[in-house]
Amino acid sequence: MPYSRTRIRTSSRQALSDATHAPYWLDRPGRPEPKPALVGTTAADLVVVGGGFTGLWTALLATDHDPSLDVVVLEADRVAEGASGRNGGFMAASITHGLGNGLARWPGELRELLRQGHANLDAIEATIGQLGLDVDFARAGELDVATEDYQVAALRELADVAADHGEQLELLDAAGCRALVDSPLYRGGVLDRHGVALVDPAKLSWELARVLRERGVRIHEHSAVSSLERSQVGVIARTAHGSVHARQAAIGTSAFPNLLRRVRPYIIPVYDYVLVSEPLTTDQWASVGWGFGGGIGDSNNQFHYTRPTRDGRILWGGFEAIYHYGSRMSRDLERDDRTSAILAENFFTTFPQLEGLRFTHAWGGAIDTCSRFSAFWGTAMDGRVAYSVGYTGLGVGATRYGAMVMLDLLAGRQTERTRLEMVRTKPIPFPPEPMRSPAVALTRWSLDRADNREGHRNLWLRTLDRLGLGFDS
Ligand SMILES: Cc1cc2nc3c(=O)[nH]c(=O)nc-3n(C[C@H](O)[C@H](O)[C@H](O)COP(=O)(O)OP(=O)(O)OC[C@H]3O[C@@H](n4cnc5c(N)ncnc54)[C@H](O)[C@@H]3O)c2cc1C
Repeated sequence: MPYSRTRIRTSSRQALSDATHAPYWLDRPGRPEPKPALVGTTAADLVVVGGGFTGLWTALLATDHDPSLDVVVLEADRVAEGASGRNGGFMAASITHGLGNGLARWPGELRELLRQGHANLDAIEATIGQLGLDVDFARAGELDVATEDYQVAALRELADVAADHGEQLELLDAAGCRALVDSPLYRGGVLDRHGVALVDPAKLSWELARVLRERGVRIHEHSAVSSLERSQVGVIARTAHGSVHARQAAIGTSAFPNLLRRVRPYIIPVYDYVLVSEPLTTDQWASVGWGFGGGIGDSNNQFHYTRPTRDGRILWGGFEAIYHYGSRMSRDLERDDRTSAILAENFFTTFPQLEGLRFTHAWGGAIDTCSRFSAFWGTAMDGRVAYSVGYTGLGVGATRYGAMVMLDLLAGRQTERTRLEMVRTKPIPFPPEPMRSPAVALTRWSLDRADNREGHRNLWLRTLDRLGLGFDS
């Protein structure tokens, strides 16, 4: 395997020497001013907990459905400060964390899942157009590349399975891949022109929040909900300085400790890291090509993703996925110099012609990993509360779908979504500590080993496969 965790050249470290340790997307002049925290007691029809994509789409779709609905959004930090402002901005039609995962878990309803996923992405595109959201959305596609010969066969199989299910993926040989984006590592690939868009995730969050405020939705930042309690007619969401008495509550708090204790065993926070480069010169762009303008992911278990930004930079992330004992989350874990250096090294291994390019931003964020890799849902307090979590690193598009399911559940509606096995079932929970950490570590070690042994999965991974369990980012 061309990638390594130990061989890091000084030049790769130097490429990071003046990087800002903050998400590139959030570190820009267009960031809205903070909104006031909740102070005092107020009433609403719906209280939404979490100001990421899940919470924002929930509020938007709820007020689309009933413009008179009184909605309050409570965000512990700032809108988009969680995963929604820290991601790669790949917006996939897939609501199953990819075709392979969907096929392995829900073969009988895969066609329907694919149809609903495409409809979701189409609806996002339509909403962006109708509301005039300035979010740098481009339906540019994604190229999945093989960096090892053995991966080429797996990509061919993927393209065949896709074709059997009515999906159109283009199989490319090494030359075809390199004509799109030039890396000496690329041995072949599969291009999905239609099923993936690129977006500026922070702008999407901010624009959704702007529209919500224009609709009269109250968004309070720095308003962490400390408890959700049942009231006579609904629920009470309490924060440090106030409370919202609402008929219903929707929880979209991702990797953060869920307000419903029963949900916690299903989710572990896994940190994923990203770099963004300085803008490339015209010559540098010419040396890589990238005319198709889409995103790229490699086919390793521990994979990289990369994409251009609207202002001519390259975003590069993934590979390491780090879990901390006790599901620890903390702001200091969003910086990891060792992981950033490994990422920089792997970037120059992929694009040696860009040697000398510098990175301006390096950051990390927590992913709400669950053992089936795709979102799950549920209700509490006799249907007054619903949640949507567990997107496992593929939630930029799927969060809108998650929001629709939550609203179905809160309304008690039977829909094409609530009938799905994927929606009705839950993942297998993770074991508690002290077993959790060693189990995750063994899985990571095994995945790394598989990447270095032509994809060969050891007994541990094969056992997990048989049990329908896994670890991913
Ligand atoms: C580095 C990285 C790269 C990624 N890349 C991609 C990608 O390219 N494509 C893709 O599809 N997905 C990607 N993802 C995943 C994607 O970003 C998430 O699935 C998606 O943003 C989840 O949105 P969310 O609203 O559920 O969670 P979040 O955006 O995390 O929002 C949850 C919010 O809840 C708030 N909160 C938590 N607890 C409370 C509380 N008690 N009270 C009030 N508020 C609370 C948090 O502060 C946070 O703002 C990536 C994630 C990371 C971290």
